[in-house]
Amino acid sequence: MKMTVVGFWHGYPEAGEATSGYLLEADEYNVLIDCGSGVISNVQKFCNLNDLKAIILSHYHHDHMADIGVFHYSQILTQSKEKKIIYGHTEDEEKFQKLHFQDLVVAKAFSEKHVLTLGPFNINFHKTVHPASCYAMRIERNGKIMTYTADTSYQEELADFAKNSDVLIAECSAYEENDVSQFGHMNSRDAGRLAQKAGVKQLLLSHLPHHGDHQQLKNEASKYFDGEILIASSGLSISL
Ligand SMILES: [Zn+2]
Ligand SMILES: [Zn+2]
Repeated sequence: MKMTVVGFWHGYPEAGEATSGYLLEADEYNVLIDCGSGVISNVQKFCNLNDLKAIILSHYHHDHMADIGVFHYSQILTQSKEKKIIYGHTEDEEKFQKLHFQDLVVAKAFSEKHVLTLGPFNINFHKTVHPASCYAMRIERNGKIMTYTADTSYQEELADFAKNSDVLIAECSAYEENDVSQFGHMNSRDAGRLAQKAGVKQLLLSHLPHHGDHQQLKNEASKYFDGEILIASSGLSISL
């Protein structure tokens, strides 16, 4: 599988960029994980909108779903012949129902209890620690594993969930000196500890803060994690 970072900013997109969005591809099957502000524009650098099969939303904060409305409109204007599916949780029924759009986009629920098989991918979900109900995803294909923390503060169970992943995409909303756990987020130390505890091969720091030098996040996380660390940037891709 191939994962491309479409957007990685925390809260709002910097000029010409996007908040959370990750494009997954395998066997010509394209899935978008999260659909934050700027994602529908930027994803077209990597994939035709009509070739997207589905979108999975970790949660209903704007920086993860702001572009759902314009995705809906795109389905009228591009005259997509194929019905698109948006997967979300149903703990906020009103927001879930708004994912439906005419007869072009259908909302479907995911849950922790079931593995979601989507094209070539098998996806498990795990509830994170965040002010809005939010789910991490463990995506498997052909024995390769990629885990995405979505938004969360540090949680031991998340390390079990991410166990032995080839890649861990971890949110890293702050530098080590800032404890952001009370806001439901992780800093560079948390992300490094999580990766180490989970025994992952590679850590990708994402959902990055708007100040400072992101290289510092990598340096801080490397005090806690022995494996390879990457810093998210638009267009960065990882193939497994
Ligand atoms: Zn959030
Ligand atoms: Zn977020």
